[in-house]
Amino acid sequence: MDTILVVNAGSSSLKFEVFAIEGGLRKLLRGQMDGIDTTPRLRIKGSDGKVLADQGYLPADVPDLPSAMRIVGAWLRERHEGRLVAVGHRVVHGGPDYDQPVRINAEVLSDLERYVPLAPLHQPNNLAPIQAVLDRRPDLPQVACFDTSFHRGHSLVTNHYAIPEHFFAEGVRRYGFHGLSYQYVSGRLCEIAPEIANGRVIVAHLGSGASLCAISQGRSIESTLGFTALDGLPMGTRCGQIDPGVILYLLEQRGMTPHEVQDLLYKQSGLKGLSGVSNDVRDLLAASDPRAAFALDHFVHRIGLHAGALAAALGGLDAFVFTAGIGENSPAMRARIAARLEWLGTRLDAKRNARGELLISTPDSKTRLYVVSTDEELMIARHTLKLIGG
Ligand code: ADP
Repeated sequence: MDTILVVNAGSSSLKFEVFAIEGGLRKLLRGQMDGIDTTPRLRIKGSDGKVLADQGYLPADVPDLPSAMRIVGAWLRERHEGRLVAVGHRVVHGGPDYDQPVRINAEVLSDLERYVPLAPLHQPNNLAPIQAVLDRRPDLPQVACFDTSFHRGHSLVTNHYAIPEHFFAEGVRRYGFHGLSYQYVSGRLCEIAPEIANGRVIVAHLGSGASLCAISQGRSIESTLGFTALDGLPMGTRCGQIDPGVILYLLEQRGMTPHEVQDLLYKQSGLKGLSGVSNDVRDLLAASDPRAAFALDHFVHRIGLHAGALAAALGGLDAFVFTAGIGENSPAMRARIAARLEWLGTRLDAKRNARGELLISTPDSKTRLYVVSTDEELMIARHTLKLIGG
């Protein structure tokens, strides 16, 4: 049985899934090495939910992503019966040029390293497992799938910031992210409601990272994310859209270092910063602290504002789609957001919403509301299979 390994590497965790190729891509197992360098733990489950591995390691044995990748590789060689024929990687940044996934070779890898300054917190983590596989199995085809590619068809007007042009040339552009999720959801919409998929759609990817994407006839035309994954909506720990004057104030008046500002905006802000309680919407919904309620009010308010902006970019709206952790699992948050969209013609069906059905708007809703589960890993597996000629 030929299989594809999909790798999604973050700063302290390495997530992976294995797909069988024959007879259409089929998920065989999913796993995660958490707590790299602190409390490493490898957990693997089969597609039936059966626990295949649950093992702790010493921090010294898993100090970084390459060592995590080696342990996962060793587990697969020993326990996985399939024959691995390719590895697909999630890579956050494909820069201005990669508008499609790409087969990795030395040249591509050095190209992707050029984008590290554009995504210093993510890109090095994404590239480390690629290098680890290259070192051990240079013969194994590897494919990089980018969070930015789906947005590369944006117009020049959309892609620009209003700063002198030479910055655009050196890469200071609005890239947009979460593209693998949007591409998957857009594809699902084609199956579920082709007439809608060809219209004007906003997809709301609401997880620990959050953004909205305006999709017209299946193509992304706007995103709330820009140069980095900090823009747009407030997120679990990220600030979202902020007046650049605030950054100047922090640097000049408060004497903060760039590193401190980075930490503040990426890790101490968003729902966590506003509430002082948690970055997790489940905790905030359950908390009695008024700051938790305030953080959620702010989140919903900003989603409403940005949805309006994206509807303007689309020239109207045929459907609004909820996806990712919050979007897929929280009827309460969906209801609050849907209430903000009523002026755009949406009418929520409370019962369908409570049941988490695919279509959650009423039959007479002018603009439909959907809940679609995203699957970035399957998207990566599909791209990988295509590029290795499957
Ligand atoms: P990521 O893949 O970006 O880490 P997910 O898409 O898994 O994020 O989303 C994680 C977030 O989803 C959690 O932080 C939590 O706030 C939210 N979430 C998950 N389940 C629920 C739920 N039942 N109710 C509300 N929020 C939820």
